[in-house]
Amino acid sequence: MRIDLHCHSTASDGTDSPAELVLSARRAGLDVVAITDHDTTGGWAEAAAALPPGLRLVRGAELTTVSEDGRGGHCTVHLLAYLFDPESDAVIAEYANTRAERRNRLHIMATKMAADGYPLDADTLLAGIPDDVPAGRPHLAQALVRAGVVGSVTEAFTELLHGRNGYYVPSKKTWIKDAIAMIKAAGGVTVLAHGFAHKRGPTISAEVVADLAASGLDGVEIDHPDHDAASRAELRALAGRLDLLVTGSSDYHGTNKTIVLGAETTAPEMLDAIAERATGAEILEA
Ligand code: AMP
Ligand code: FE
Ligand code: ZN
Ligand code: FE
Repeated sequence: MRIDLHCHSTASDGTDSPAELVLSARRAGLDVVAITDHDTTGGWAEAAAALPPGLRLVRGAELTTVSEDGRGGHCTVHLLAYLFDPESDAVIAEYANTRAERRNRLHIMATKMAADGYPLDADTLLAGIPDDVPAGRPHLAQALVRAGVVGSVTEAFTELLHGRNGYYVPSKKTWIKDAIAMIKAAGGVTVLAHGFAHKRGPTISAEVVADLAASGLDGVEIDHPDHDAASRAELRALAGRLDLLVTGSSDYHGTNKTIVLGAETTAPEMLDAIAERATGAEILEA
């Protein structure tokens, strides 16, 4: 049984449409795939409609949140949310707000770059991103590739969008404990995404993970391409102490990243535990 619980589609910053994602997942030999676009459930319906026989679909999202980091500051934390009711008023309001904020923020970034002579037009960029798609740096990266400024999305990030120069503007984020509570109220299950992926940026301490577990966090993603062996071992021990569920996943983004579907996987008993706790949505089967 091969289970990949963290994948992106064109509903956020992946390159497979939701329908292509489920077909690619089947082709990759997966038995279960989760669609977890950033801050949106916009791909759920298309993925469900295209679900091929033999593949089960876990509907989820990856919420961008902010947390105390355990060192007196704050940092961005990604929270995987599974099988919550997408019709929950709190969830809908939060997404709409987050998406509006993300559009403003991307417009500011593009305007700053245009002012420095990069061949970009912020209004044109935003006009090309549908309202229900969370606007993000990957869209700006693609525009820079189209304009011939850089050769690839990866190069756009490493050269221009990395956050260590004047172009980066942070995006507004939901407080992580509010996100955990919101998802729980909507019948969903929450899993800390790539929690100790230190090379991605600042991460929360083990003490903060313990505090989040006490606040209702259900699990932690351990087997993730951005976790080295030390991070995996540390998280596994922590999850054991805190009695948290543990998952593994590719964080597939299509051709926006080099990781393939099923590169990391989740144990069947962990998926069962997630399904048992969730009351907001069901795992779908064609
Ligand atoms: P944003 O939320 O707009 O700041 O953009 C963050 C998103 O950009 C992440 O979710 C990744 O999918 C993507 N990303 C971050 N770093 C890179 C990179 N080096 N190469 C390609 N995509 C990246
Ligand atoms: Fe992403
Ligand atoms: Zn993430
Ligand atoms: Fe992700």
